Parts: sequence; C-alpha cells; structure tokens
Amino acid sequence: MLNLKQILASTPRDVRQRSKNVVIIEARLAYRVRRILNSKKTKLISVPLRTLYATIYDRETAKELGKIRRHKLYIRAIDGPAHKLSAGNHVVVSCSCENFLYVDEVALNKKDAANIRYSNAKLPVETNPLMVPQCCKHLFRLGSSVILKGM
Ligand SMILES: [Zn+2]
Repeated sequence: MLNLKQILASTPRDVRQRSKNVVIIEARLAYRVRRILNSKKTKLISVPLRTLYATIYDRETAKELGKIRRHKLYIRAIDGPAHKLSAGNHVVVSCSCENFLYVDEVALNKKDAANIRYSNAKLPVETNPLMVPQCCKHLFRLGSSVILKGM
C-alpha cells in the first residue's frame, strides 16, 4: 500500500513539470461507508471512505486540440485516522487519461494503490518496465493541492 506522498515522490520530473498546465474544473469530497470484515473475520464493520473526485483538463492539450478534453479522477483514503487524504494514510487513485492507463495503473495496482479499471492488467513492459508506482500529471496536480490544503 502507498500514501499520496509516496506516489507523488515516485512521479518523474517531466510529469511534474507538465502538471503545471493542469486546471481543476471541479472537485468534491465524498464519504461512503463500506462494510468489511473485522480483523478477526468474525463480523462485518462499517468503514468510512473519504474520496476526492475531480474533473480536470490540461491547457497545453486544449491548445493543441483546439478543445478541452476533460478527465475524471479520484484519490481515496482507505485507512488511518479520520481517513484523511494527506496524512500519510494509504490511498487508492485513478484517472481516465491514457498515461494512467498505459503507464501507471498496473504498477500502482501491484502496490494496492489502484484498481484495474481502464487497462487490461498486462504489465507495462515498455512504458514502465521498472514498475515505478507513479501517477499522471492530472493526479499529480490534484494530489499536490490535497497536500497543500491538508485535506
Ligand atoms: Zn491523468
């Protein structure tokens, strides 16, 4: 499992640079209660999940395409006190962009930090051969603002 700071720290410099052109269109924090088995696996307990959903676009891509391409992403805290997103608690992340699909999703999934949602779960042998648990520029932008604001 990984926390947000670990994912951001593993993200390559060029992705971080490109995150400066990313604009957050809207973001909303949501709570959902999930029923899971307790540690002794004897009874179901309720666990609150705190998730930040966002819609985002990239100014550079918009300039190239002549139109805005929106991506949906989320950062979900899955444990820890108050399920804070930025307090070193473990997270699960996702983004609808190609970079996340081809480079990040499987590598993060191997660390339990992403669900397989967009990719075919095959190892990214060419795009991320070292399986670095990194994120895309959209998640980097959103994750950085989460850490700044201490959500
Ligand atoms: Zn993305």
